[in-house]
Amino acid sequence: MKLNNLPKMEWKFSARAEQLKSSMIREILKITQRPEVISFAGGLPSTDTFPVERMRAAFDSVLANSGKSALQYGPTDGYLPLREYIAASLSKDGTTIEADQILMTSGSQQGLDLLGKVLLDEGSKALVESPSYLGALQAFSVYRPEFVAVEMDENGLIPSSVAAKGAGARLLYCLPNFQNPTGLTLSQQRRTELVKTCANLGIPLLEDDPYGALCYRGEPMSKMLNMNPEGVIYMGSFSKVLTPGIRLGYVVAPRTLTRKLEQAKQATDLHTAQLTQMAVYEVIKDGFLEQHIPTIRALYSSQCDVMLDALNKFFPKGVTWTKPDGGMFIWVKLPQHIDSMALATESIAQNVAFVPGVPFYAGAPETNTMRLSFVTVSPAKIYEGIERLGKLIASKM
Ligand code: PMP
Repeated sequence: MKLNNLPKMEWKFSARAEQLKSSMIREILKITQRPEVISFAGGLPSTDTFPVERMRAAFDSVLANSGKSALQYGPTDGYLPLREYIAASLSKDGTTIEADQILMTSGSQQGLDLLGKVLLDEGSKALVESPSYLGALQAFSVYRPEFVAVEMDENGLIPSSVAAKGAGARLLYCLPNFQNPTGLTLSQQRRTELVKTCANLGIPLLEDDPYGALCYRGEPMSKMLNMNPEGVIYMGSFSKVLTPGIRLGYVVAPRTLTRKLEQAKQATDLHTAQLTQMAVYEVIKDGFLEQHIPTIRALYSSQCDVMLDALNKFFPKGVTWTKPDGGMFIWVKLPQHIDSMALATESIAQNVAFVPGVPFYAGAPETNTMRLSFVTVSPAKIYEGIERLGKLIASKM
């Protein structure tokens, strides 16, 4: 029986929880669910690329052939055949990655949280790109580090900025390929320089690479992992090459760290779903990704071209933007005096959504920036939305 007349509960949150905020993107996404809104705001992959039938068949086959083990608890580090597959695919440029260096995670987002948990104390220095992936800032901020922003230019993060600011840092978080939010790629020369700089300063280099396979212009560049497997922590994800709803990612690290991450993961969720890992292995084990990824690249490349063309046609002079070689995002710089946060509110009133740049900065933000995602909107709607946004921007100039 439900008891009545009990004193009202007063909730007291931990100091850690008190400083948590909901991501602005998730808030904007709620608004953009309305069908009349043309949304360049989300970071969602295109559902047209999801191999639904193949996934269904794989889940069926796993349940039919190995149902009991798929539905049982599994090891914390993950399903061994899948880890062996990933290890083999990452063993390049004269390096060998072993399965026991890999921890399967519930999305690479969980990898970010676990890394924060095992590497950061309150007040630890955490180096991040400026701007950086909002979800990583959110994940690390739980552990209350002191964020130090390192500068970027059109060739990505600037290694000398790391050398100048990095002494004593517990980690450097870097997105070398088609960065979220800017779409920028770290040049080959800078990768080498960065790996050396971090090794010299003794800073763990986190290479977050969910978009690396989605390279549609130029040659894919070397992974920093393969330049220094003893000092680089690599994070990969199946979200952008298969589907994000399965929540499957992985961290590759030197063994000492992998074992520590494994303990942290045990405390968090014991392990990532066996069924999902086995089904994904079933999907990819015979080379499916090698045929599938080119179809994603072709779609995203043409979507990107449409948006670049629309920007050229409809955005006023004085506005600049990045021209990504892969991935899902374009970063726009408006004239200095235009505040993209205020612009976003006006734009949503006209049924066009984007994410203003401010939340992507751990340090001083550039208030005149915005992120546009081009993969989920039809070409006709891209032209329509960019034309409307262009007019709104022009009215402020
Ligand atoms: N890192 C980056 C840079 C991302 O953009 C995302 C997702 N948008 C993630 C990590 C997390 O991806 P997931 O958890 O789906 O693997």
